[in-house]
Amino acid sequence: MTPDRIMKLGFFSTKSYDRTYFDINKDPRHEIIYFEARLMEETAQLCEGLDGICVFVNDIVNRKVIEYLHNHGIRLILLRCAGFNQVDLEAAGDYQMKVYRVPAYSPEAVAEHAVALILTLNRKTHKAYNRIRELNFSVEKLIGFDLNEKHVGVIGTGKIGTAFCRIMLGFGCKVLAYDKYEQEELKKLGVQYVDLLTCISESDIISLHCPLNEETKYLINSQRIQSMKDGVMLINTSRGGLINTKDVIKALKHQKIGYLGIDVYEQEEKLFFEDYSETILQDELIARLLTFPNVLITSHQGFLTHDALDQISKITLDNLQCFIDGRPCDNEVKAGN
Ligand code: NAD
Repeated sequence: MTPDRIMKLGFFSTKSYDRTYFDINKDPRHEIIYFEARLMEETAQLCEGLDGICVFVNDIVNRKVIEYLHNHGIRLILLRCAGFNQVDLEAAGDYQMKVYRVPAYSPEAVAEHAVALILTLNRKTHKAYNRIRELNFSVEKLIGFDLNEKHVGVIGTGKIGTAFCRIMLGFGCKVLAYDKYEQEELKKLGVQYVDLLTCISESDIISLHCPLNEETKYLINSQRIQSMKDGVMLINTSRGGLINTKDVIKALKHQKIGYLGIDVYEQEEKLFFEDYSETILQDELIARLLTFPNVLITSHQGFLTHDALDQISKITLDNLQCFIDGRPCDNEVKAGN
């Protein structure tokens, strides 16, 4: 492979902001075709004639798709996101496909969004905004609680979890954390590592910052919810599958869970990032979630800051250059990572 190889790339699930940042940052010699479609078996034929593809969180890069890519001469999958649960890495290895991700672009962007969910649910600014637009200046039923001195449980203290811990310490919270790997730097700041059960049972607010994998699927289920404090606030900005949505709905109905803030949802690939405002909602779980006054849902926008989008495009393009140069790259993901 020559160092100056020119690539024709297909970007899937693209929005206007993807074009904006990639067009600014890319080497003009490379050609990018932006598809709005998600990559899946049904759309894989769009990859014909490409040298590589770039996908996002809800594309489906399963064995059949990878086999199709391989049969069409493609050896490169760029992920413009951190999580890689949407790619069958075993299959990628079997078909000599190089897969790269963007492990850290702005952990603060996602951590700050988790905090936005907490503050909105707690202080009900979304309700106040709507009330005041209708000249309703009543503050009845807008009572929140002080974050100062509350216990905040953080599950997963990687890059985003660490940024989140720092912010919550700044609010005066007592931060309890659970992770397989403890970070000395966080301990020095006052974070207390505990086992998962203690983290879940002693926290007023629980925020999930671990990846989705076989071990963490439905980490939050009925059994674990039972050990939580009554009226707990649950925040998920990681991946929808960490939470058993049916179990959480039951707990919301019984007021065991007092607040739910989610930026991700188990079945989000059928809904998120698109405008369905003129269609009939078929997803019964999200329909039920929308009926609760203490549930706040955002559509996977934790990463959506100028800073993060700029970094995502630059790191994705650096990964591309590593592939072209045949250089080893820390951002490459393989089965077993
Ligand atoms: P990271 O790899 O830096 O950290 C993940 C942490 O989770 C690690 O410290 C790891 O040891 C820990 N972990 C793994 N398995 C665990 C388990 N069973 N229990 C507890 N901890 C466990 O990842 P990150 O950059 O901090 O991202 C975290 C997650 O956030 C990603 O996996 C991704 O799903 C999600 N994310 C969401 C958005 C968004 O827009 N909402 C954007 C980026 C990332």
